[in-house]
Amino acid sequence: MSTDATEETLTDGFNLVIDALKLNGISTIYGVPGIPITDLGRLAQAKGMRVISFRHEQNAGHAAAIAGYLTQKPGVCLTVSAPGFLNGLTALANATTNCFPMILISGSSEREIVDLQQGDYEEMDQLAVAKTMCKAAFRVLHAQDIGIGIARAIRAAVSGRPGGVYLDLPAKLFAQTISAAEGARSLVKVIDPAPRQIPAPEAVTRALDLLKSAERPLIILGKGAAYAQADDAIRALVETSGIPYLPMSMAKGLLPDTHPQSAGAARSMVLKDADVVMLIGARLNWLLSHGKGKTWGAPGTQKFIQIDIQPTEMDSNVEIRAPLVGDIGSCVAALLDGMGKGWKAPPEAWTTAVNARRDANLAKMAPQLMSNANPMNFHGALGALRQVVKERPDIILVNEGANTLDFARSIIDMYQPRKRLDVGTWGVMGIGMGYAVAAAIETGKPVLAVEGDSAFGFSGMEIETICRYNLPVCVVVFNNNGIYRGTDVNPGGGSDVATTVFVKNAQYEMLAQAFGGNGVHARTPYELMRAVNEALDTGRPTLINATIDERAGTESGRIANLNPQSALSKKK
Ligand code: ADP
Ligand code: MG
Repeated sequence: MSTDATEETLTDGFNLVIDALKLNGISTIYGVPGIPITDLGRLAQAKGMRVISFRHEQNAGHAAAIAGYLTQKPGVCLTVSAPGFLNGLTALANATTNCFPMILISGSSEREIVDLQQGDYEEMDQLAVAKTMCKAAFRVLHAQDIGIGIARAIRAAVSGRPGGVYLDLPAKLFAQTISAAEGARSLVKVIDPAPRQIPAPEAVTRALDLLKSAERPLIILGKGAAYAQADDAIRALVETSGIPYLPMSMAKGLLPDTHPQSAGAARSMVLKDADVVMLIGARLNWLLSHGKGKTWGAPGTQKFIQIDIQPTEMDSNVEIRAPLVGDIGSCVAALLDGMGKGWKAPPEAWTTAVNARRDANLAKMAPQLMSNANPMNFHGALGALRQVVKERPDIILVNEGANTLDFARSIIDMYQPRKRLDVGTWGVMGIGMGYAVAAAIETGKPVLAVEGDSAFGFSGMEIETICRYNLPVCVVVFNNNGIYRGTDVNPGGGSDVATTVFVKNAQYEMLAQAFGGNGVHARTPYELMRAVNEALDTGRPTLINATIDERAGTESGRIANLNPQSALSKKK
């Protein structure tokens, strides 16, 4: 090298990765440090990024995914090679399945050694492994390509149907140097990363004609609708149309669950009886019984309109009579436009019937929510939390478990968009603490995480992370001594406990105490409500161990039908 070249200002791979992320408005990294990305995290922090270190990559990955969902910017998860990468992969696959934009960035080992399988430190062909589990996967080998690599990753994550992207950065890349001027030129600011996709006018007319012809129309709002952040337009569409709507789990609160057109508590009835169903950002997957079978009306009696950004989602399970392909904001605006002034509300016989069923179901549930049973049952405990959320509609609710999930979903009303974060399309356990951390960081709002005792265990160690960053997160563990319930016995009669049973009366609250947080044991709905309110008022990291009757709870909650049954199980 000539003297001139050494005196020239240089940059390196570390700096370019951080500069490229910052240039694109990405200011937070979720991850776990280690070889070869420890210095990347340090430098990111030095250069003003927020770097949140977790105890396990899966939780960091879930955090990045939900950050993407909440902000429409890809959440970034940073991991070490092979095992760290694999730990993050669950979250990447889950993000892709749920249509959340995230980028998993993993360091990797020496390409030359990996490709010849010569046994490098943490050797693995990570790019090949990741490819089948995400929307797109890229590897960058040269420092001057980092800008393009990150631009491609961002665009792939957020454009069209959002999803997970893998970015492979070999260890050697970070130390590569190029001139600072060339480095600066190589960065790419992604313009309009998620362009609007305007629906075709004839598709809008087709959808409106079908909707007009309906006697018993229904709108189903999915988490795609919540993600789209077209809240006002969606509300205007629902209200102008006068059509009853059903929110999917994470779409709860897009309109308040107490809205007069909500058919949430009349779910079985509306799915069976509607004649025209308009899906907005919701897929006809298992969560909607694939649009057929005994949940729905007789075959051929129901017609579907579907709004989705992904053209191939149409006809995935049943015929879609009026596909409306485009982004939800544009599609809903076009529909509203087409409705104009002369729009006729749906027949009153239908809306009255839906409202009557909903009100009857709500009335049936009301007394159960006042239950003061000791030990608590799900209804008593959730009745208390329902009241908390009602009084604090802007807090974020994270929810996982089996019974804890199913009951909370129907009992706790939501009032604002994107405030309910849960197990999503896969019904995955383990999202709890990752989602809670990112929700607190991204929104600055208090978070209430309502966790089954089993579900909590998948990410429970992150209680230390919550304490370390002093986040306003209140975790409530619904402790019924086991998976589904705590009363199972070993059918073989041996001394081991049953497969679904945990240590009895575990003192989960001590986990928070171990890290300087607030740990509370709640035995009654009143104690629970008081402790949650205090946690949310003070913003102090809190873990509440809520004792639930170990006999409460049913196998697999509301999806027991998905269990193949053994002869052993049938005998019970
Ligand atoms: P839910 O589980 O709540 O029913 P799904 O995850 O099944 O929701 O469906 C979400 C759908 O929303 C996906 O098919 C996805 O393609 C779609 N989607 C996501 N974002 C947008 C958007 N901005 N515009 C249109 N459709 C979107
Ligand atoms: Mg349990």
